[in-house]
Amino acid sequence: MRIGIIGCGVAGSVLAEMLREAPGFAVDVFDRMARGEEAEAGTGLNCGPNAMKALRLHLPARHAALRAASLPWTRWIIETAEGQRLFDLDLREVAEEPGIRLRWSELYRQLRGPVADATHHGLELVAVEEDAAGRLVPVLEAPDGARLRPRGYELLVAGDGRYSALRRLTAGVPQPALHGIAMTRLLVPDAADCPFDEYGQWFNGNARLLAYRLPGGAAYIAGGFPLASASAEIAPEARTAAFQRALYTPPDGQACPAVAWMVERLAAGVGQIHWARLQDAPLLRTAAAGRVLFLGDAAHAMVPTLGQGATQAIEDGVVAGALLRRGGGAEDVAAWRDTRIDFVRRFSLEATDTMFPGGDPVAGSIAKGEPEFLAKLRRLYTDVPGPEEFAPVRV
Ligand SMILES: Cc1cc2nc3c(=O)[nH]c(=O)nc-3n(C[C@H](O)[C@H](O)[C@H](O)COP(=O)(O)OP(=O)(O)OC[C@H]3O[C@@H](n4cnc5c(N)ncnc54)[C@H](O)[C@@H]3O)c2cc1C
Repeated sequence: MRIGIIGCGVAGSVLAEMLREAPGFAVDVFDRMARGEEAEAGTGLNCGPNAMKALRLHLPARHAALRAASLPWTRWIIETAEGQRLFDLDLREVAEEPGIRLRWSELYRQLRGPVADATHHGLELVAVEEDAAGRLVPVLEAPDGARLRPRGYELLVAGDGRYSALRRLTAGVPQPALHGIAMTRLLVPDAADCPFDEYGQWFNGNARLLAYRLPGGAAYIAGGFPLASASAEIAPEARTAAFQRALYTPPDGQACPAVAWMVERLAAGVGQIHWARLQDAPLLRTAAAGRVLFLGDAAHAMVPTLGQGATQAIEDGVVAGALLRRGGGAEDVAAWRDTRIDFVRRFSLEATDTMFPGGDPVAGSIAKGEPEFLAKLRRLYTDVPGPEEFAPVRV
């Protein structure tokens, strides 16, 4: 079976590795980025214990490589900006192993390395055609404008992320739902004096800072604050040091050391902040009568509250690979994945309660220590199928 994967991001590279040595498969991966362009990409991220379980069960070499390139994510604390502890969880109480925290560039390097020989860089999907045998042919554009039609594929896989061209070309542009929260991300490369280590969240009203240390002495700070309405833009005055400082500083000015440190770093690095709005897009798994399969953000862009975007992209790649190897197709991936994705998306939105205007950050954070929330976290972090659970689909 010839499979063309558009996008060598998280889901695309995991799927390519799952199929790399499988008999009967020929896989080509196309990405618009030049080879090695990820070196400076993005900020930091945390991948959930469920991504690590999926890799441990299906791609143990990738699991080991990512563990070696990351710091473990074993703890989650929530405090007020003054430092009052509201929630403190050892993740191993609800998971089989810790998650990880690392830089985006490192995640991409680790996932893309094993499939480098199957990846064609600097090629952007701009159209999809069909050959005489009914196979889909991607039309790819090089930086000099030259167009390439590599061949027809029995299956085209969208691993091209939130603004997927393959989804737009075969199923139309998904209408995102905006949730009225601004998100900021900042990488602090030199964080030697950072007064925290593991994953923490700090609330000042509904404004929230989230931060943790990264390998190599860096730290990651993510902010979130309510906007005037669900579809409001982020105002220019919000993008200033003074606004960011006021947003997270408690009314009496007495921020705990972690928040005081982050406020200074945000103010100093305001020009380097990445800005986004909290949003998700409707789930879609297949198009073109099963000849297109959507994975990761191309299928189900979700709110980042529980750090499940890249995490679910890893699960997608692993499960899709296991099913394709057993003779399954796009519909089988939908059958295996979409109930879980629905749960993850609902749970991620539910966990955002403390950030919405009117949400109670103190009561809402304390409630995350209750059995009901912890049972859902356990389901999130452990409900990952191993290879033995996939029976042959078709012979
Ligand atoms: C503020 C914020 C914070 C986040 N934090 C986390 C976190 O802590 N943990 C977590 O798990 N997730 C997090 N996420 C989510 C995460 O960024 C995504 O869910 C994840 O990267 C999706 O992986 P993917 O494989 O679908 O796509 P991507 O990893 O985005 O890869 C897409 C690939 O497709 C390529 N491409 C795109 N268009 C084309 C085209 N037309 N032709 C060819 N190639 C193309 C790109 O170059 C790229 O290599 C966060 C997201 C946001 C917005």
